[in-house]
Amino acid sequence: MTAWITRSFRNLLGTAQLCMVLALGVPTFLYVTLAHTRQLVEERGLILSNLADTIATSISENLRERSREVDLLAKTPFYVAADFNDVELRASLVRMQQTYPYYSWIAVVDINGIVQVATGELLEGQSVEQRPWFQAARQGNFVGDLHQAQLLAKLLAPSSEDGVLRFIDFAVPILNKQGEPRAVLGVHAHWGWSKDLIKRIAPQEMLDNGVEIFIVSDDNKIIYPDLPEFFGQTLSVPGVSSDQAARYQAWGDAGQFLTAASRVASPQSTTPLNWKVVVRQPRDQVLEHALSLQRVITVVFGGALLLFMVIALFMGRYLGQPIHELSRRAQAIAAGKSAAFNQSFHTTEMRELNASLQEMSEKLLQNQHDLEKAAKELEQKVIERTHELAQTNLQLEAANQQLSSLARQDPLTSLPNRLAATEFLTHEFQQLKRRPVSYVVLLLDIDFFKKVNDTYGHATGDTVLKRVAQVLTRCIRENDFIGRVGGEEFMAVLPMTTLNDGAVVAEKIRAAVAAEHIEPVGHVSVSVGVSGARLEDPSTDEAIKRADMCLYAAKAAGRNRVVTDREDPQGNVEAWRSVD
Ligand code: GH3
Ligand code: MG
Ligand code: MG
Repeated sequence: MTAWITRSFRNLLGTAQLCMVLALGVPTFLYVTLAHTRQLVEERGLILSNLADTIATSISENLRERSREVDLLAKTPFYVAADFNDVELRASLVRMQQTYPYYSWIAVVDINGIVQVATGELLEGQSVEQRPWFQAARQGNFVGDLHQAQLLAKLLAPSSEDGVLRFIDFAVPILNKQGEPRAVLGVHAHWGWSKDLIKRIAPQEMLDNGVEIFIVSDDNKIIYPDLPEFFGQTLSVPGVSSDQAARYQAWGDAGQFLTAASRVASPQSTTPLNWKVVVRQPRDQVLEHALSLQRVITVVFGGALLLFMVIALFMGRYLGQPIHELSRRAQAIAAGKSAAFNQSFHTTEMRELNASLQEMSEKLLQNQHDLEKAAKELEQKVIERTHELAQTNLQLEAANQQLSSLARQDPLTSLPNRLAATEFLTHEFQQLKRRPVSYVVLLLDIDFFKKVNDTYGHATGDTVLKRVAQVLTRCIRENDFIGRVGGEEFMAVLPMTTLNDGAVVAEKIRAAVAAEHIEPVGHVSVSVGVSGARLEDPSTDEAIKRADMCLYAAKAAGRNRVVTDREDPQGNVEAWRSVD
């Protein structure tokens, strides 16, 4: 098709290169897009799950450790029997506070809820009876959910980002020797520890790649990070189960995130904690590696395609141009022009093709030359043969004419013979029918000729015949006919002549023959029968028959005479008029 690309070397090579690049590029691109991406998501998911598990375990361990530490302290004999006013009790609380930087406030509260001893003497003498941690701790060990500082809010400097002080409470009952609760040891741990703990565990590289970590409380509220935009939010946290593998989740308007979750095992508490660690990474950043690989593949294969196209263009020119050149010269030769195959080529195949075409072209030209020469020779021969044939035809025509005239001529007397007489009569008879103008037939017979032969010999007889012929020829007009129609019989046909005029001519002939002296015979005579052709005659024969009858009559009447038939419409030859 013309709209379709022509099958030139360049286009074929270009198409082949394109197919090659597509054959390599498309599967690679698909592998990266599908298989590699899936693998990447699985790997990333596993990493996120592991991170969530690690953080959840660390939080859990930390909470247990704190809880156990408080519990062990409360169970020491000193605390079992300690006097609330003992300075050592206060010193013990201060020491404990110093062991862990996030202990913000440690206090011993009597069974009625009055703070007896506290670090920094904060809230001493005040009642915390209504505080949930105090109430819970009277029943047993308590680890309280995160809460905002209320009584201590004005006494301690806030350190969270939103300026709100948040604590997690550890509270255990201090039992007396009888095992009855005599007081509560309460500890407020600053929530800041969660930030430091996560900072220690989470690799910075992951955080840089958009990985975000959340701690979510039982009621699905974000308690970490305690940033204003997150803290206490519930809406955007998807319901992720900690026993599920990481998967894509919609986080409200924030979009799709690869999300993993891990449950934080609760320390021993009258009200167990139900926390989850949720880790997420934006979809685009999960796939960043795959996307960048896709970009690289696109660029590499695009570049390769461009390069291959340039190579195809060059190769097409490199291979196609010489062939085009050769075909142009071959066309010139086909058109009968001369063309030299003297171009130099880069490739062996093209050089061989060039040499073959050169040889072929020379042979073609030689053949053409030979053919032209042969054609010229043939043409010359045809001219010669045509000329010869024309000559032969002329000769043949002449021979035919000769033959024809010989066929109509008596060889002895050279007078026309019977055939010529018949043709002449036929012509005259046709004229008669057309015009009508009569003609006259004369039949002449030499008298006693046998005797001449017998007396003088046959050769003399021939001489007599020739002499009589000459006399007859002399006696008639140019338009008249005289021929020898038998041995010593002659016929004369006189066109446009009446019977009377014919009789006159007959008499003139008779007299001339009789007057002729022929050696050694002397004189011979002729008898003549004369008849005119009639319009009613059906053929030439009728006039001849009548003339013959008149001749017979002339012989019978004594010879050397002319007998003419009468003008008789009935055709009866009854009366004779002798001219003699
Ligand atoms: P008639 O007066 O009745 O005509 O008698 P005739 O002798 O002329 O007639 P006939 O028919 O008896 O004889 C004719 C002779 O003419 C016989 C023949 O030998 C001779 N003849 C015919 N043709 C030739 C010829 O070509 N040459 C010669 N020399 N003689 C011929
Ligand atoms: Mg005769
Ligand atoms: Mg005779």
